[in-house]
Amino acid sequence: MSACAHRDRIAVPALAEAEKADLVCAACAESGSRWLHLRQCRTCGAVLCCDDSPNRHARAHAEGEDHPIITSAEPREIWTYCYLDDAVIGRR
Ligand SMILES: [Zn+2]
Ligand SMILES: [Zn+2]
Ligand SMILES: [Zn+2]
Repeated sequence: MSACAHRDRIAVPALAEAEKADLVCAACAESGSRWLHLRQCRTCGAVLCCDDSPNRHARAHAEGEDHPIITSAEPREIWTYCYLDDAVIGRR
């Protein structure tokens, strides 16, 4: 774990397990693209696709909106990652 200096960007709580059902990457759904895993932006709550997905919408969002912190939106995954630090910064 690293000491992330960007935690002040966190403005929304991580999704509860019950909220993770039936999520989609909004950007992929719009263009009919596929995604692999979903991530939740912790600044605005947007749910977007991971770096292993073809479109990497979560990374594009992080860079474009300056929302660097995500938490996995996959079931039973609760890790939180900072794009600026390129590191997992916590379990929530
Ligand atoms: Zn950070
Ligand atoms: Zn996507
Ligand atoms: Zn965001």
